[in-house]
Amino acid sequence: MRVVSAIPDLRRARAAEGRPIELVPTLGALHAGHVSLLERGRAAGGVLWMTLFLNPLQFGANEDLATYPRPLERDLELAEKAGVELVFTPTVDDLYPPAFASYVEPTGAATRWEGESRPGHFRGVATVVAILFRLCQPRRAYLGEKDYQQLQVIRQLVRDLYLDVEIVPCPTIREPDGLAYSSRNAYLAGPARRSATVLYRALQAARRDYQAGERRGDRLVARMTETVAAEPGATLDYAAVVDPASLEPLHEVEGAARLLIAAHVAGVHLIDNMAVSE
Ligand code: AMP
Repeated sequence: MRVVSAIPDLRRARAAEGRPIELVPTLGALHAGHVSLLERGRAAGGVLWMTLFLNPLQFGANEDLATYPRPLERDLELAEKAGVELVFTPTVDDLYPPAFASYVEPTGAATRWEGESRPGHFRGVATVVAILFRLCQPRRAYLGEKDYQQLQVIRQLVRDLYLDVEIVPCPTIREPDGLAYSSRNAYLAGPARRSATVLYRALQAARRDYQAGERRGDRLVARMTETVAAEPGATLDYAAVVDPASLEPLHEVEGAARLLIAAHVAGVHLIDNMAVSE
């Protein structure tokens, strides 16, 4: 496995690579969710590349950039074990040199939910993803449904800017108690770790209501809200029932829909989501 940091080296590696590239972009601090994306990419037949870049542009001033876990050695071991042939891990100064002045500003699916909770977040995501896709020129990129809004924002970006890459959505991988794997789970211990399962419990409760025939968006939202309110360790940021592509709230669920939820547990911002459909 090659670890490439300098951009000229990455460009040379890209020019020399004859096989199509299967790309998994990450912030690092790999867990079973990332590994599932890598396995999916590995099985696809091209050459598996991963980017490992803790992108400061997608973190707000009051967020956890400084404390975000950075277990580089372990990440590289996991990547190698999963069959990654090249890891691109640029420095912040290389990717955003002093003269850097161009940003991608997504609207549409980026506007609500995480877009409101974390102003500037999706601008940072869209900008770095556009740069990484341009540099790596992958045939496919593997993205987790765990970050469902991010997935839709990147699909929108690829569509609108005619980026020549196929986006492959991958299912959310969960701990045995339902908590979705996240690098931020490392911040949770003891009671907070137990409280964190409330996101999954709220989604399941709303999905059960849906399966029992409930189609009113506000009733499904109320079920999620009540479930989080009953968990003393958690504070709801938002709960929503949305169109799966536009992420606009649904008054009535008629076709496919997505349940979105975000909450703070012990000061940690956690998100989750689930599909509901006929
Ligand atoms: P991150 O390093 O948090 O930016 O995540 C990198 C990729 O892994 C993104 O496409 C995420 O959606 C995906 N991912 C994160 N957590 C999970 C999970 N629990 N299951 C599946 N994919 C995930």
